[in-house]
This record gives sequence, structure tokens and C-alpha cells, in this order.
Amino acid sequence: MKILQSWIAGEWTGTIAAQSLHSAIDGTEIFATHAEALDFSLALSYARKTGLKNLLALDFQQRAAILRALAKYLTEHKEDLYAISSHTGATRSDSWIDIEGGAGTVFAYASTGTNEFPSGNVVHEGPALALGKQGQFAGSHILVPKRGVAVHINAFNFPVWGLLEKFAPSFLAGMPCIIKPATATSYLTEALIRQINASGLLPAGSLQLVIGATGNLLDLLEETDVVTFTGSADTAAQLKVHPNLVKRSIPFNAEADSLNCIILGPDVQAGDEEFDLFIKEVVREMTAKAGQKCTAIRRIFVPVSLLDDVTEKLQTRLAKIHVGDPRQEGVRMGPLASKSQQRDVLDRISQLAAGNQVFGGSVEALHLSDQELHKGAFVAPTLIVCREPSENLVVHEVEAFGPVSILMPYQGVADAIKFAAMGRGSLVATLVTKDPQVAAQAIPQMAAWHGRLLILDRQAAAESTGHGSPLPQLKHGGPGRAGGGEELGGARAVKHYLQRTAIQGSPTMLAAITGEHIRGAAVQESDIHPFRRYFEDLQIGMSLLTHRRTVTEADIGAFGGLSGDYFYMHFDDIAAKESPFGKRIAHGYFVLSAAAGLFVSPAPGPVLANYGLDTLRFIKPVGIGDTIRARLTCKRKIDRQKKDAKGAGQGVVAWDVEVTNQDNELVASYDILTLVAKK
Ligand code: NDP
Repeated sequence: MKILQSWIAGEWTGTIAAQSLHSAIDGTEIFATHAEALDFSLALSYARKTGLKNLLALDFQQRAAILRALAKYLTEHKEDLYAISSHTGATRSDSWIDIEGGAGTVFAYASTGTNEFPSGNVVHEGPALALGKQGQFAGSHILVPKRGVAVHINAFNFPVWGLLEKFAPSFLAGMPCIIKPATATSYLTEALIRQINASGLLPAGSLQLVIGATGNLLDLLEETDVVTFTGSADTAAQLKVHPNLVKRSIPFNAEADSLNCIILGPDVQAGDEEFDLFIKEVVREMTAKAGQKCTAIRRIFVPVSLLDDVTEKLQTRLAKIHVGDPRQEGVRMGPLASKSQQRDVLDRISQLAAGNQVFGGSVEALHLSDQELHKGAFVAPTLIVCREPSENLVVHEVEAFGPVSILMPYQGVADAIKFAAMGRGSLVATLVTKDPQVAAQAIPQMAAWHGRLLILDRQAAAESTGHGSPLPQLKHGGPGRAGGGEELGGARAVKHYLQRTAIQGSPTMLAAITGEHIRGAAVQESDIHPFRRYFEDLQIGMSLLTHRRTVTEADIGAFGGLSGDYFYMHFDDIAAKESPFGKRIAHGYFVLSAAAGLFVSPAPGPVLANYGLDTLRFIKPVGIGDTIRARLTCKRKIDRQKKDAKGAGQGVVAWDVEVTNQDNELVASYDILTLVAKK
């Protein structure tokens, strides 16, 4: 029996066996935790001194590149993890969610880093606001790495994804992580850490692993650290008020179990496509990972007239689910992760059964071998029908963390929304409807109690990612019983590990700090056109003030002819005089084009492409006879470490453009996005 080891301060620790861990399939002892106590002061000091130093020697773009390489490596080595994963009770498709879902999440955070974060380690959350009338004093916000350690405590059900979905955003934010997986399935997480180490991709100190208890770790945390937790609501409630976390205001993000629901809309009839979609979704959510998903459907609400139909359909489908050894071909559902989970779920089923009807639930009917039946952690798919959901309150309070769901009738949408909220906060709910009015009525009310809402109809079904799958791009976490936390959600998740700080000062100071040109900051003008400089030579604030151009009636006529835009404001003298402007004005797009004509340096050069505009505003009208000029200033540089097809390097440069009139008034304002060649 292999002894699992902790990875602390760059060393594997643990040679003496402590707690045995068993295969969920047949109870065989497969691993043991280690008995040696861990030195958490050492772990934290290693994270602070070595990990933090190494991570902050890199910037967002470089850390994103490491995440991309890591995701690729894990994908290439996934089969090693699949081989171990079946002992957690997972079928191949359950493991896919955990293993490939985990690598996919790392890929997604690599892209988030590349596309949404700057070079350097300061995120400017602009735009800056002028705080004085003369433009000499401004305010803005920056986000910086917290310079602390992230402690992640995970649940047993996703030993791979659970680690990676927390690690990826914290790593991108520049925080070293200490990760404690749930003991029951920690053998899979340990195998993952060994793979990550073997990749050689992570800087030393970025990731440490705790097998077993966290000892005095939380007592030693400091103000800049963060704790995240996934697991039961009870443990979350206990850890949230840990005296040291409270005393030092250490953020604690909880994602706890919740009584997620699905509502079959009142508009759906038994023969509708949406009815079948609903049945399929419920069966999938009850049986994927044997129902051990924090997002699984625990409560099912249907119009009272369809209760019997739905009961019969679900019973028939659930009876066909082949339960058994997840390594066997054709098995759709494996056992729960451990015997203790099995005991817990059976106990919850008996609490839920009181006053209700129970369908399924007999393990004896599953055709398991004697060894599996007695030593494995199997629970049969179980449907509980509760006809009085407003009387029998236990159905809104007790969660059986397995293949168990409670079916209930409702009278009208308002009732269904009320029942959904009786779970007192959940991670996700699904509304199956074909009527946009039902969705428009229900969803805004439901949103107050749920972290994510899926609206399922025949159109969405073709591509739906499903009720139970948290996506890296969308927020995961819900209010109330679901823990009140937020994870994932693209760049939002990274920002949980950054410190947001307001900064005030002159535009020149703010520009120096943020690494971004801010209007009013000092600019550098020279004889060299900024478009003639390579990426490396361009500096923030390098600027060009163009010559002037007077707009004529002929310009407006020519632009109308070229574009086909004969809007009355440009061509109908009478209507234009009656408009708020009182006169004919030039097309906004003409002003934009004329500005490009003023600032562009036409000869071939390092500027390779213009790929878009941001924040375009036409601020004042430009009339016939007005004289415009443009100021072009290098605003932001991002080195995405990308190369073109011929292998030449290039970077992204955003330019601030201000177009002004003869009275020095701003008439148009925008950012131009370009790709600029490296030398
Ligand atoms: P727990 O809340 O007991 O454990 C979750 C994690 O917290 C584990 O890593 C556990 O470690 C750790 N932990 C427990 N106590 C402490 C403590 N005092 N200090 C530090 N860490 C601690 O949940 P379980 O995994 O045992 O599952 C129990 C129930 O939780 C399930 O039946 C289900 O209802 C719910 N659950 C919710 C999930 C979700 O995603 N929201 C996922 C999984 C379960 P250790 O394993 O070593 O005890």
C-alpha cells in the first residue's frame, strides 16, 4: 500500500502510514496518508520567500504562457490520472469532467491572462477620472498581486478540477498556493502534483500540497493571504469564523453544498421537445459522478398536472442506468467516493423519505458482485416524490450528496419561484421553458437566490453545456447556503487574488504608476513619428500632434458618395437647421477617417495592422468650416510574446486619439489597437 506524501518546501514528506484510503469500488486498501506532522511555518515561509519572489519575477503574460504549457502537458499525460480516478468511483465520463475539465480550465485561464491582462504586474482599472477643473489632479484604481499566500481547501468530489480551478487564477494573479485536498480522494490530487512537478514548468514555491489535516496553518496566516474552501456548509461556517481569519480580515471564499433545482415551465406539455430535454437533464444530473456534484439537481419542480407523467418517465429512465464497477464497459454510474459518503447519503435518504414516496434506492437490485455490494460504496439512483413541498420542509433543508433528487408539484410560476428560494441560496437552477415571457418573469426573481441560471429550450439544447457544469468563463458560487462565494468567471476570478487600490495624483504620476498614458500626463514629442518605432522602442506617452484640416461641404458630399450614407443631418439643410445642432454637420465616420489621414505615417513600417477601436465617442459636432487636428499618443503596450507566421515577434499597442476643433474642444475620442513589430 503506497503512502501518500505532502509536497512542502520543495520536498516530499511522509514515510509512515496513518489513515488507510480505500477504493470506492470494492473497499480494497489502496493508499494511506502519512503520519508525520507538517511544519506549516516552513511551508508558509517557503511560499512567501521563494514562491512569491519567483512568481513576481514574472508578469501576467509570462504566467499565462506557463499555464498554457501546463494545460498542454496535463492533457498529454491525462491517462495516468484516469487510471487512478476510477478508484474514486468515477466512470470514464465522470473522470473526463474532473481531469480534462481541469486541464480545460487551465487553458481558459491562460487565454484570460493573455487577452485580458497587461504586461507587468499592475492592472489599471480605468478610465482615470478628472478630480479637478484644470485636469491636474485625477483618480483611478489599480489591481496588484496581494503579495500573500492562497490556501485552498478542497472537496473530495473533484480531486483534479477542484485543485486546478483554484490554482489557475491564483497563479495568474501571482499568488503561491498551498492546497489541501479532501483526504478521501487525496491520492488522485497527489498524482496530479507529481505530474505538475515532473513537467518542470512551475517556478519553485508556487504550489505546495498538504495530505491530511491543516494543523495550525490557518493560525499562521497574515493579512495579505486568502483562504478558499469547497465542501460542506457546516465546515464552511466553522472555518469562516476562525479567530485568526476574523482578526486579520483574511478573505474567506466558500463554495458549499446547496439544494439546486430545476423548474419545468408551466408552458411545457408532455409531448414537447422541452419535456424530453427536461427529463434528460434531470437523469444526467442525478447520475453523473453518482450525483456527487455541488451543482447537481436536488429538487425538481413540475406543474401539478404533470407530476405523475414526470414520475413515471424518470422512474423508467433511472431504472435503466447501469450501476457498477466504473472500469467496466457500459457502466453509466459508479459508487460514491467512500463508505462514509455512502452511510451519509443513506442516512439522508431516510430523513427525506418521511412522509414522501421513494422510488428506486435498492442496492440489492443493482446486480453487483458480493464484494462490490458489501465493500463498495454504491447507492442506487433514488427519486423521492414529495406532494406537499410547502408543508414538508425537510425537502428544502436536507441534501443527500449522491444520486438522489426530490420531485415536487407546483401550482403557478410564483409558487415555483418561492419553492426554489426555500433552498435558501444555491449554486445553480435551471428553468425549462419555451416561452420567453415565462423566462423574463421568473429569471430576474430567481437571480436573487442563485449563482447561475440556465434557461433550457430546444434552441439552447443543441449546444447547452448543461445545468451541472461550472464554466471557467462564468461565475461559480451562490448566495446563502451555497456559501456566498464566487469562483471562476474569467478575469473576475483572478481579481479575487489581487488587491484593488484607489490612486490619486497628477496625470503624469498616475501614468507612471499604471504604465498607461492618462490624458493630461506629460507627453514626449519628437521628429520621429511614433508609427516608425519598433515595439521595444515605443514608450508610453510618445505622441504626435498633427497638422490641421478644415472640413468643407465638398468633404461631406464626397464622404456621402463613397459610403452611401445620406443621413439628413449631413445633406438636408432644412431638417438639419431644425435639429438640435441647427446646421449640417460632417459624418462622425468622416471625422474618424480624416483623423487617420492626419496621423497615419503611410510608408511600410513597424506598425503591422490596425485591428480595432475601443471607447469611441463623438463628443461635439463638426460643421462645415470647422478645423480639426488629432493627437495620437502611445497609451498601452502588451507583450503577448506572440510571433507571426514567419516567426517575427510582435506586440499589441493601444493609441489614445483625441480629435479637437479650432477652439481646442474635444470632438472625438477613442483608442486604436495595433500590432507593432519587434526589432
Ligand atoms: P467537509 O466540509 O468535511 O470537507 C471539505 C474539505 O474541508 C476537506 O478537504 C476537509 O478535509 C476539509 N476540512 C474539514 N474540516 C476542516 C477543518 N477543521 N480545517 C481545515 N480543513 C477542514 O466535506 P466532505 O468532503 O467531508 O463532504 C461532506 C459533505 O459536503 C458532502 O456530503 C456534501 O454534502 C458536501 N460537499 C459539497 C461540495 C461542494 O462542492 N460544494 C463538494 C463535496 C462535498 P478532510 O477531507 O481531511 O476532512
